[in-house]
Amino acid sequence: MSQHFDAIVVGAGPAGNAAAYVMAKAGLSVLQIERGETAGAKNVQGAILYADALERIIPEFRDEAPLERHVVEQRVWLLDERSHTGMHYRSDAFNEDRPNRYTILRAPFDQWFASKVREAGAVQITDTTVTGLVRDDDNRVIGVETDRDGAPLLADVVVLGEGVNGLVGRRAGLRPELDPAHVALAVKETIFLSEEVVQERFNLEGEDDGVVIELMGDVSAGMVGTGFLYTNRESISLGVGCLLANFQETQIPAYVLLDRLKAHPSVAPLIRDGETREYVAHLIPEGGYDAIPRLAGDGWLVVGDAGQFVNSAHREGSNLAMTTGRLAAETVVALKHEGLACSAAHLARYRQALEQSFVMKDMRKYRRLPGILHNNKHLLTTYPRAISQAMQSFLRVDDVDKRAKERRMLGQFRQARGGWRHIFMDALKMARAWR
Ligand SMILES: Cc1cc2nc3c(=O)[nH]c(=O)nc-3n(C[C@H](O)[C@H](O)[C@H](O)COP(=O)(O)OP(=O)(O)OC[C@H]3O[C@@H](n4cnc5c(N)ncnc54)[C@H](O)[C@@H]3O)c2cc1C
Repeated sequence: MSQHFDAIVVGAGPAGNAAAYVMAKAGLSVLQIERGETAGAKNVQGAILYADALERIIPEFRDEAPLERHVVEQRVWLLDERSHTGMHYRSDAFNEDRPNRYTILRAPFDQWFASKVREAGAVQITDTTVTGLVRDDDNRVIGVETDRDGAPLLADVVVLGEGVNGLVGRRAGLRPELDPAHVALAVKETIFLSEEVVQERFNLEGEDDGVVIELMGDVSAGMVGTGFLYTNRESISLGVGCLLANFQETQIPAYVLLDRLKAHPSVAPLIRDGETREYVAHLIPEGGYDAIPRLAGDGWLVVGDAGQFVNSAHREGSNLAMTTGRLAAETVVALKHEGLACSAAHLARYRQALEQSFVMKDMRKYRRLPGILHNNKHLLTTYPRAISQAMQSFLRVDDVDKRAKERRMLGQFRQARGGWRHIFMDALKMARAWR
């Protein structure tokens, strides 16, 4: 006879951990199943942790969680082959008591979060893969099967926090196969340097302060993609990701992009003499709002990357994962308290909660962005290059008068895009994407 739980959570990433923690904390019997040897063993992220989402679940997390640095400066760099044009924002306001963004390393962070789930009372089994959903005669999901011997594990509701690959949900027909135009492949290295070197290279005074750099332009070699460089306590996370469909078209291996980035004159001095101790690759769901699958049914809910919850315009994923996990859990807890079944009709409250939160509002706001970028790859190459050329002309002091320089710069822009009409149309498209 199988043990019966109020809820089974598949996955111990931020989404699964958030869901399991909130339900266990509220007194529900929760079983969490993770295929990695430990939580976080297989997980990849940049990684910036957005504090607000976690604070709503574990308010005191700053006292315990393995955090690297809190972000005091954000840089955005547009790269061409040899240069970058940058924007920096640095503020003392980020040094307040409760900083808003931290860099983290996912393996220790996920292990810590999973330990909080256990402390809250959930049963956690690792090194175990969920292989399928169990349904009753009415086609309701009533539990899961795993790769371990034994009877199926049963619950009133199964929360699928299985990440972007989401094989369980796909096999069960809850969501379609991944579309290569809706998913990015990212590669990342963790490059170790001493703490002092990180402080010095990034002009960091406080030992907990950190800098993050978002990279656009030449980093993606003409594909739809971006890069990132984040400072950890004694390492740097450097990565790049582009749409899988573009990798298939160009046949450029992902590691070549990362090697190019490491050799870029703006990046190479920042990682010089560093030791690469981790090299990982992972998918990121980037299809946006239109790629969100069905999120709830009789006896099941989907949270995090499995539901395509990534806001690529703002580089947000883990916060959406934790928020969707929390809202799914709160829905289940409320149904339990009201004595209601976890039917599709009742679990539809989860979608309503998402619609009222920033999650769906932001996903809907950037609904057009993936399609526009996919069909206009030049936006990520032509403009960074043209801006770099313009900066060269503007800053170089020589015997060319300034009015002639301005005319030359405008001419370079027009030429880069083949006429003002195209530039106007691009501006219009971006305005629509951002609306
Ligand atoms: C290179 C890179 C950089 C990123 N940078 C950032 C960033 O800086 N900030 C940010 O907010 N987001 C970032 N993201 C996105 C972020 O990592 C994800 O949005 C987030 O991890 C999603 O959490 P999740 O719990 O839904 O999925 P995951 O973190 O993928 O966790 C899913 C878990 O489920 C387990 N699992 C899967 N299938 C099964 C199964 N069948 N049985 C049992 N267990 C299973 C997996 O082992 C895993 O532990 C980045 C992503 C990548 C790839």
